[in-house]
Amino acid sequence: MASLYDFDRDGLAALLEGEPRFRTDQLWRGLWVEGRALADVTTVPAGLRASLATRFPSTLTPRADVASDHGSTRKWVFELADGATIETVLMVYDDRVTVCVSSQAGCAMGCTFCATGQAGFTRQLTVGEVVEQVLYATRAAAPRRLSNVVFMGMGEPLANYRVTVEVVRRLHDARGLSARHLTVSTVGVVPGIERLAEEGLPITLAVSLHAANDETRDSLVPLNRRYPLARLYEACERWVDATGRRISFEWALIDGVNDTDRARDELVDYASGLRAHVNLIPLNPTPGYLVRGSTPERVRAFRDGLVARGVNATVRNTRGRSIDAACGQLAAVTNAKRSVTIRSRRVAPEGRSPAH
Ligand code: SAH
Ligand code: SF4
Repeated sequence: MASLYDFDRDGLAALLEGEPRFRTDQLWRGLWVEGRALADVTTVPAGLRASLATRFPSTLTPRADVASDHGSTRKWVFELADGATIETVLMVYDDRVTVCVSSQAGCAMGCTFCATGQAGFTRQLTVGEVVEQVLYATRAAAPRRLSNVVFMGMGEPLANYRVTVEVVRRLHDARGLSARHLTVSTVGVVPGIERLAEEGLPITLAVSLHAANDETRDSLVPLNRRYPLARLYEACERWVDATGRRISFEWALIDGVNDTDRARDELVDYASGLRAHVNLIPLNPTPGYLVRGSTPERVRAFRDGLVARGVNATVRNTRGRSIDAACGQLAAVTNAKRSVTIRSRRVAPEGRSPAH
């Protein structure tokens, strides 16, 4: 089933054939520029809104709504029209409001440490399904303004390339989000990185590196066998040359696996030439990967070691861990037919305020 947000401006015009031309502007403005729900686009007559609502009901049905970090992190499990489920996470900080969106239901990349990867692939999301996640979070965040969108939920955005790029363009052109505040995170789909470099989008590219030697990376990220580190490096160089933007490397610190001095030195070698920024995060525990994340002391020491060797590095916090909303923990990859129990605390209505 299509989403009203699948349509660009020309698409909406075609949809409204027979209506006065200014209706397209009104609808586009209401939905995209002002980010209103269809029912609230009051410039458009109620009858037309009602018929559009019947033809294009929301593609997202919330099945769970859980909060943590005193309400500043919120996770939704949405059921899509065909019963597939996805997750979306809203994180409210003092200086920014970020939504983490899913680009696929599930993921086919099979990274061993990732709950989404452990559960497998269900299907690609459509433009409308991704945009609706952003708008849902936008409304939940009000009166705070949603400022950042990260493609770090379920799925590999560069394996759903056309949709990812179209969503990025619309969020930038129509919703007015700064390109720098849009982050696409990839496990290292080399052709996708190279293609993205040519799109002329000054977004932030995050590459989930996790290891800078092929043997370790092969064991964590199966895609590394297809696009090994040397090949990935070339694609990263291409990105930096074409866009003038830095790359960030994501590195989930795993006890004894990639948090050693040797792993650090390999990362220094790899990241230095690209002047990449490194984001460290202790591995979040997932059911299918029984290795621990590094201790907070080791995380700090690893960061300090990078910084001392001239690599820009920060430690990301682990928002949403208690509600399985943290990186890699999103695992509602299942059909409604297979029943899932969602371990969660429901949000009390009074606990909803995302403001702080
Ligand atoms: N598929 C894309 C984006 C979604 S995953 C990618 O892999 O980049 C978002 C981030 O979560 C990636 O950096 C991924 O490596 C990280 N991640 C996955 N499982 C994790 C875990 N258990 N602990 C910490 N980070 C994890
Ligand atoms: Fe897919 Fe990213 Fe998880 Fe790997 S880390 S399985 S690419 S979602």
